[in-house]
Amino acid sequence: MPERTESESRKLLRRLRDTLAEPGAGQERLDRITHLIADSMRSEVCSIYLFRDDETLELCATEGLNPESVHKTRMRLGEGLVGRVAKMSSPINTANAPAEKGFRYMPETGEEIFSSFLGVPIQRLGEKLGVLVVQSKEARAFSDDEVYALEVVAMVVAEMTELGAFVGEGEALSALHQQPVMFRGGTGQEGAAEGHVWLHEPRVVITNPVADDPAVELERLKQAVDTLRISVDAMLTMTDGQDTEQSQVLEAYRMFANSRGWMRRMEEDIAAGLSAEAAVEKEQSAARARLETVPDPYLRDRLHDLDDLSNRLLRILTGQGADTGAEMPADPILVARNIGPAELLDYGRRLKGIVLEEGAVGSHAAIVARALAIPLVIHAERIITEALNGDPILVDGDQGIVHLRPEETVAAAFRDKIAMQAQAQTRYASLRDKPATAKCGTTIALQMNAGLMADLPSLAGSGAEGVGLFRTELQFLIRNHVPKRAELANIYSGVLDAAKGKRVVFRTLDIGSDKVLPYMKRVEEPNPAMGWRAIRVALDKPGIMRMQLQALLRASGGRPLAVMFPFITEFEEFRTARQMLKDEVERERRLGHILPDALEVGAMLETPSLAYAPKEFFEMADFVSVGGNDLKQFFFAADRENETVRRRYDMLNASFLHFLCQIIERCAETRTPLSFCGEDAGRPIEALTLAAIGFRTLSMRPASIGPVKHLIRRVDLKELRKVIEAECKAGVTNIRAGVVNWLSKQDI
Ligand code: PEP
Ligand code: MG
Repeated sequence: MPERTESESRKLLRRLRDTLAEPGAGQERLDRITHLIADSMRSEVCSIYLFRDDETLELCATEGLNPESVHKTRMRLGEGLVGRVAKMSSPINTANAPAEKGFRYMPETGEEIFSSFLGVPIQRLGEKLGVLVVQSKEARAFSDDEVYALEVVAMVVAEMTELGAFVGEGEALSALHQQPVMFRGGTGQEGAAEGHVWLHEPRVVITNPVADDPAVELERLKQAVDTLRISVDAMLTMTDGQDTEQSQVLEAYRMFANSRGWMRRMEEDIAAGLSAEAAVEKEQSAARARLETVPDPYLRDRLHDLDDLSNRLLRILTGQGADTGAEMPADPILVARNIGPAELLDYGRRLKGIVLEEGAVGSHAAIVARALAIPLVIHAERIITEALNGDPILVDGDQGIVHLRPEETVAAAFRDKIAMQAQAQTRYASLRDKPATAKCGTTIALQMNAGLMADLPSLAGSGAEGVGLFRTELQFLIRNHVPKRAELANIYSGVLDAAKGKRVVFRTLDIGSDKVLPYMKRVEEPNPAMGWRAIRVALDKPGIMRMQLQALLRASGGRPLAVMFPFITEFEEFRTARQMLKDEVERERRLGHILPDALEVGAMLETPSLAYAPKEFFEMADFVSVGGNDLKQFFFAADRENETVRRRYDMLNASFLHFLCQIIERCAETRTPLSFCGEDAGRPIEALTLAAIGFRTLSMRPASIGPVKHLIRRVDLKELRKVIEAECKAGVTNIRAGVVNWLSKQDI
């Protein structure tokens, strides 16, 4: 960069910093900034547009345009040149603005007389805040150096924390970070919680975006990068030879840490007048803006790597650790961009709720949150930027809604909801030791689903008769290496101890699809749910399953053992898997280990094809459990992870019930014990329907046992069966309304 512009932009930044340091009301400061930039860039106009909401930009300050239009001129994202800069997150530089694609004439601003236009995005860590524009009458394109200088200025403007407060009807609103904000995300785990924000990784606060002495800043950057490289190398040495996947990620980190391009860009930023930390953040923002639009998942993963590295670098430079000294509130609601399952387990049940910017229903964090029964909202966009440690917050996991710094009226209504839920829980607790016997005398066995040792206390608390589904993959997902056989045997044995003689059904590893092991080579599949997963992986690469079966046999130590194979699609798969288990039993016998007292081998029915397997399959299986989550997605061809179609079809669809009845009949024919362990088993109306059509064992999350039992005990299942049959006969598509009507007639 030429020396002249370098010092020009430094001069501009210094003036900007002085302006920012002067006292003055928000609007006045913003006006001074536009004045200063216009003056320094020798352009007639400088304007700042900020986002009012996700879609709308508002002119918030201007030098040169009609002052009357401030807070009145608004445009949609993508509309006009300003809207396009915001949408693409990249500059537009043109000598002839009116001839430019997307130009929008706004008479109130008097804009038509300006020919040149340069607009750059104002963004902070990929979050779009607005657009900074300079315009001049003279038809000239701005030089690369000028574009760069304006970008640097936009970076400093983005650091003004009170920026969002300028948007309004001409008046500066009360400071940002004090107003109530509502976030609409998705449900990760149901439940409601009230508490205070605990940021998993508090963001680094940059207090000195502008620096006087580039030489000092360059040296600081160099030293920080050296420290960073050393720490990455140290991490690599620690994993040496042990864990190839982990070291691959670290190799990628090392590649970034040594990247010349990255360094060079930061050095240029410093030369232009930014402090070392501001330079790191500017490049982090730019990389996010670039990579966020990239569809390639590999590259997007690298974005996370770069993000992580930049955060580390910022922490080194500012001395702000992840531990800021802030004290964790007594009722912490964890707020994070994303979190790994192991980290979540570290927090454990201390957390009252969790809110993630990213995450997915099937993500590992969601699985752990579910296991711990902590309300979780996912996809709460921008919450990281809004929330501060200690802010009051309400999490509504049922609706997928979060209220940050809520109004008192909202908080009061929310507390009523929590109180009602607690009241219901007390009522259910009184039923704990009573059977789920319906009025007609039919008793339904209610069992619980589990996956972690942390789940086991619920066995006594909920009154579950046993564990109908123990998802063993969680133990694999929360580690960054394959667990050892002894480690697993220890855990399984602990589970059996905690179950105190109640039956536990261990499902062998169900990986693939949404459950990806961090240390397993990821196979890119167009349709992972229908791809290489569960028993298919286990049969093709039997090493891990054999090891797991050995661990289970050892854990039983002479106690009864129930093993279930997931995702069986045809008889042959079950026969082979069962044989593998029998072989392992033989091997254990030869080695002189104690064998299980009784061994049950079952299959999960999760694909429609298994319902039509030969009779021999049903004879061979010691039990069958319907995995309704998967079965439903394949029956209706509707992805269980896809929010658009997930709720479109319902278990109470008459065709699906008809299909379930066929499964019940097939099992009855061979007297094969049958259960249902998908999420629907824990939803009261669905559970009631399953019981009415003939399921005698239901396995669900522990918190559902109370409500389901309460309902079953109040109805006559034989009567309900008649209602369902009549509905189906009448050609009704979905029997939900029929069931609900029938219940309400009895005041239930
Ligand atoms: C199911 O598919 O219903 C099931 C219980 O298994 P998972 O949810 O673990 O796939
Ligand atoms: Mg399943």
